Amino acid sequence: MDNARKNVVIVGGGIIGLTSAFRLAIAHHDVTVFDQSPAKGATWAAAGMIAPSGEIAPGEEANYELEKRALPAWREVGRLVKDLTGDDIDIVETGTLLVGWDQSDRRQLEQFVEVAQSFNAPMTRVERNDTPEFFYGVSARINSGVLMAGDAWLDPDQVVRLLLSALEKLGVNIVHEHVNEIHSDENRVVVISDHREFHADLGLVATGASGLPDGGSSVTNSVRPVRGATVRVQGLDRSAQPALRAFVKGRAFYMVSRPGGYCVLGASADERSEAVLEVGELQRLLRDGLYVVPELETARVLETRIGLRPASPTLEPFFERLELKGWAWSSGHYRHGVTLAPLAALSALEFVEGS
Ligand SMILES: Cc1cc2nc3c(=O)[nH]c(=O)nc-3n(C[C@H](O)[C@H](O)[C@H](O)COP(=O)(O)OP(=O)(O)OC[C@H]3O[C@@H](n4cnc5c(N)ncnc54)[C@H](O)[C@@H]3O)c2cc1C
Repeated sequence: MDNARKNVVIVGGGIIGLTSAFRLAIAHHDVTVFDQSPAKGATWAAAGMIAPSGEIAPGEEANYELEKRALPAWREVGRLVKDLTGDDIDIVETGTLLVGWDQSDRRQLEQFVEVAQSFNAPMTRVERNDTPEFFYGVSARINSGVLMAGDAWLDPDQVVRLLLSALEKLGVNIVHEHVNEIHSDENRVVVISDHREFHADLGLVATGASGLPDGGSSVTNSVRPVRGATVRVQGLDRSAQPALRAFVKGRAFYMVSRPGGYCVLGASADERSEAVLEVGELQRLLRDGLYVVPELETARVLETRIGLRPASPTLEPFFERLELKGWAWSSGHYRHGVTLAPLAALSALEFVEGS
């Protein structure tokens, strides 16, 4: 197959599928996306942090190195989207402030610092006395923290809205159907969905934590769902300040504040595959939030969202050409799928133009 215009089918319209569709359509390929409910999977629950430094975790140096490339890649997607739609993707670079609630949480923060240092991540110790604005809304018990510069956030709802509008302008067809089976016929890939059989030159599976549809199998990769919830509240505007991350009684809490007082509080993490929010999980998340940011007491709860993060055994993302001819699988983005979507999209382009 040459580099000419290709017909590509994408199964799954979360942030990975939609960003890949955009990148392929911009490069003049004919793209069709199948998803019964686009962007209502993990993408819907995500807070939208692009936080390579704030998300540092032991053993995840490869993810850190990859994520450092995400912000420029998102800025490029933003420019391309603006050329088409006239609208900007707001990408806000505030950095991340990490704090610990009690003494053992502060020890956990010190362990985070050790790991971050071993990754050579830039960081600055900050004190409330010197920079009171960073601690706006934060409990008076917390007077110091670590600032990780360069981290940013965007609003996945806005990104999805703009991507869908750009895809429409580019003539990308979104079929609101679940794909039950994939296979290959001679030189074509085939999708069997609820109501049709669809043929294309190449196929990409981007189904997040759902894994491969029937007919597809992998020799190297697998995903498991890791459930997570965010709570959306209205009432505290920390949008000019760094996104907040806290260790609270051994758990993790974060708050991303958007202009106007809309805040995303997150996030729970359970090895569960049912996309339901349990009372205890919600209670723990809100309780941790109130410990760290007591001013949330009077914020109004707008909405809770739940999603299943696609985790690979190594916790690293993958882009795999399947043995099934003409098919590739892009998944395993775990806690970082919003961050990594433009890079996954470049892998999709390489796959299509190199096949
Ligand atoms: C609570 C929470 C907070 C998060 N916060 C962040 C964050 O701040 N920053 C960050 O970078 N990442 C974050 N993430 C991770 C991020 O949301 C995921 O890594 C990312 O959404 C994965 O994208 P995806 O497109 O692979 O999967 P999804 O968003 O789950 O999309 C998969 C899509 O495939 C569709 N699908 C599945 N099976 C089929 C089928 N057979 N046929 C057709 N369609 C199908 C689904 O309907 C869905 O729309 C968060 C996740 C959670 C749960």
